[in-house]
Amino acid sequence: MKSRSSAPLSALVPAVSCLALVITLVACTTTVPETGRKQLNMISPSKEAALGLSEFQKIRKEKPISTNATYNATAQRVGRKLSLVMPVPNAEWEFVVFEDPTPNAFALPGGKVGIHSGLFQITKDDAGLAAVMGHEVAHVVARHSGERLSQNVVAGAIVTGAGYAMNRDGRDGALATAALGGGALVATRSFSRQQELEADQMGALFMARAGYDPRESIGLWERFAAWKNQNGQASKMPQFLSTHPVDERRITELRAYMPKAMAEYKGGR
Ligand SMILES: [Zn+2]
Repeated sequence: MKSRSSAPLSALVPAVSCLALVITLVACTTTVPETGRKQLNMISPSKEAALGLSEFQKIRKEKPISTNATYNATAQRVGRKLSLVMPVPNAEWEFVVFEDPTPNAFALPGGKVGIHSGLFQITKDDAGLAAVMGHEVAHVVARHSGERLSQNVVAGAIVTGAGYAMNRDGRDGALATAALGGGALVATRSFSRQQELEADQMGALFMARAGYDPRESIGLWERFAAWKNQNGQASKMPQFLSTHPVDERRITELRAYMPKAMAEYKGGR
């Protein structure tokens, strides 16, 4: 009797493991605000915020903060307006200008935004800065880093059959963060094409709601493209441009989205 019952049981183990994986994936499906796209995300918003805060502390210690009064005032002015309309869970908003000549900006879960002094040569004015900040924070609102990590973890779990372990760790994403390191969550700067287009659209909406003409975002990306053409052969391409390819399709898609963004634009008229 024993031998007859143990054989089917062991045969069931892979099936149970697969079932656990499927249940976990369903439980970890969330909806992206504004676009309604379903995404996989195993990292909780509070975990994301905690990781974002600690990563920002590290960056603050490593990078010099700009003393340029104009840049700082612009960042605070634009940041304050945008923060009122950007839904970031557990946000402790902070907008810091770092002394760095490369045109770059980043946003971390928890509401921490870093802007390089070199970005202002591209943004030109408040609306231009709002376009970049809106786009970067959109990556946070849409939880794109957690999505990327979760996809990587699932890909790994399928290979190694770690479905059971994932289910046990559940939504807290302990496996995800343990496997890839906390820094990986906030350091994931390489987004998919779909995520970039989504961040462009959400960024345009945030701009419009904060009172900036969303059409200015098209000019901003065109200036970025021009800068890239002029500096493309430089030995050190800023990370922002290597992870944000500005091409015709991107600008075309943003243009096509403008009626939706303009419908939310009440200011400046
Ligand atoms: Zn982006």
